[in-house]
Amino acid sequence: MAKRVTGPEIEKLIQLLAKVPGLGPRSARRAALHLIKKKEQLLGPLAGAMGEAYDKVRICSCCGNVDTVDPCTVCTDPRRDASVIIVVEDVADLWALERAGAMSAAYHVLGGTLSPLDGVGPDDLNIRGLVDRVAGGTVRELIIAVNATVEGQATAHYITDRLEGFEVKITRLAHGVPVGGELDYLDEGTLTAALRARTAV
Ligand SMILES: [Zn+2]
Repeated sequence: MAKRVTGPEIEKLIQLLAKVPGLGPRSARRAALHLIKKKEQLLGPLAGAMGEAYDKVRICSCCGNVDTVDPCTVCTDPRRDASVIIVVEDVADLWALERAGAMSAAYHVLGGTLSPLDGVGPDDLNIRGLVDRVAGGTVRELIIAVNATVEGQATAHYITDRLEGFEVKITRLAHGVPVGGELDYLDEGTLTAALRARTAV
């Protein structure tokens, strides 16, 4: 067994940091050391911000977004077109779409995708909440913006089936050539999808 170089408190900090996505044990040690060296400028404010986030974070009861208020900032924003809902798998996707700034719509966060192999069924996702929102009658369009994976597409099909009979337009993100992409580098699936979804010039 390796000899200890720090007390258990710092060891614990490193172990917890190593669980953060993007950080492995090595990066966690570097991050911990950096935080400790910058005790006043970084470690203190970070500890405060984490404590505050822990106390205040809420899951929006309407859309499933994370925020410190419920309903969330997105749901209560009067400048958004609440009759258009963009359905995403994860809050990270909501943030990504907001960074792109292409639309000012409402969102619905599913919290994952259907995955029978991993035991994730419809009741494990925020699908009932979505059906309730559509049933409310004010939703005009649902944009299903799930990932282009097998699970994502299965989830999109399931949602479309569940909403059959409702007066709502259901659309999906186009799949195709990425902006700045070269055809030669694309896989066959992407090329085929791009050809099928071609648009008039
Ligand atoms: Zn919300």
